[in-house]
Amino acid sequence: MQFATAKVGAVLVSMNPAYQTTELEYAVARCGMTHLIMSPGWRASDYVGMLQSIRAEVPTLRHVVLLGSLLSWHEFLERSGMAGAREAARARAAGMDLHTPYNIQYTSGTTGRPKPALLSQHSVLNNGYMIGRGCRLGPADRVCIPVPLFHCFGAVLGNLATLATGGTIVFPGASFDPARTLAAVQAERCTSLLGVPTMFIRELELDNFGEYRLDSLRTGIMAGSPCPVEVMRRVQSKMHMSEVTICYGMTETSPVSFQTSIQDPIERRVSTVGHIHPHLEAKVIDPVTQGILAPGEVGELCVRGYSVMQGYYDDPEATAAAVDAEGWMHSGDLVTLDAEGYCNIVGRMKDMVIRGGENLYPREIEELLHSHPAIAEVNVFGVADARYGEELCAWVRTWCAGLDHASVSEDDIRAWAAARVSRHKVPRYIKFVHSFPQTLSGKPQKYLMRKQANAELG
Ligand code: ATP
Ligand code: MG
Repeated sequence: MQFATAKVGAVLVSMNPAYQTTELEYAVARCGMTHLIMSPGWRASDYVGMLQSIRAEVPTLRHVVLLGSLLSWHEFLERSGMAGAREAARARAAGMDLHTPYNIQYTSGTTGRPKPALLSQHSVLNNGYMIGRGCRLGPADRVCIPVPLFHCFGAVLGNLATLATGGTIVFPGASFDPARTLAAVQAERCTSLLGVPTMFIRELELDNFGEYRLDSLRTGIMAGSPCPVEVMRRVQSKMHMSEVTICYGMTETSPVSFQTSIQDPIERRVSTVGHIHPHLEAKVIDPVTQGILAPGEVGELCVRGYSVMQGYYDDPEATAAAVDAEGWMHSGDLVTLDAEGYCNIVGRMKDMVIRGGENLYPREIEELLHSHPAIAEVNVFGVADARYGEELCAWVRTWCAGLDHASVSEDDIRAWAAARVSRHKVPRYIKFVHSFPQTLSGKPQKYLMRKQANAELG
């Protein structure tokens, strides 16, 4: 559908197959969807049931099509009763230009309700090409894409980056499974593997990790949420991905704006998100005064150029709050840019913790805790506190089978951290968990952790 809709100038709205009724209603109604097309293997009966129950709320939806098997575009138009649409599509295609909207892409919903970003063919295709170039992809490459295609990670960093540089795509399955992913890499001799950090962690900690032959791998992309240095190092050394890159971006910028490169010194390739992509501009501003900050100072990242969205669909107010009159997209992310242009992600502005008047950046504490040998995943956030306003809370998951077994207590972790950073950065609360609330694309949702922790702490 990604290519068929682009070809006829229709706007693709990627849907998450796991949506429940309220999410589905919002996703359909918010963008005025007219056609909903479900591919084979979709939760079709659930979807049809949900659509029937919200019918009155989604008056724009005219066609719901379930594809029993893969069809050619022409067969599809015939069978879905949309043959008449062909002429209209031809006319629309003839009138297309670079800025024709291609996609209403919902953001991940990490900090709240997903927002519909309107992206053009030009912005997304060029971004895909630049990402593929950043990984040095070419016709001999075989790229394994275990990330969802309803998100820009799969659609752009996966599909478009590979196809724009002539490579081959390998899909290991509709939903992420670490064993199936590594089996696909082995069977198809993939040269590149994509994932959010948690996916790589789950692959590395498979019981039989050592049995997979992964020596065909060379490159790949880790992106979507903070990429711990320790995990990057393990991916490089244990998965043969010596050229693995980190990408940083957001749905609203089609999505990638920074990427590491094989030319960067190894330390920079594991600890920063690299340089700004070609044809884009970046600046770091003081969120209050909006003035440009000096290299190394922490401030809000703003990006400008071809990749910036046309706006949030049908919401000029939200658009004006995100993209200013000079075309700068305000990311909501705190970063530093050093004198050589390397960008370091400090964390989301919404996640910054103010404890007793002091700004604390959870990312810094997460990186520290990640270097503890027993810790596989960690999320640090602020919880309400009567005395200090906020206190630090860390949710921790320890490594399971296969790697660095260790049993630790909360006090062990606190003592270990206190020996390495100043006292006020040591989390007051530590909780061991087996999993974290996360989006379907695998991004941790701290606002839900914060809510639960605040309730638990009373
Ligand atoms: P929502 O906007 O709906 O709350 P979201 O911001 O997670 O969700 P996306 O557009 O998918 O939706 O994600 C963009 C955000 O992901 C960035 O603003 C940044 O906070 C985070 N991000 C992406 N890549 C990286 C990275 N390499 N390192 C750290 N953070 C990253
Ligand atoms: Mg966002």
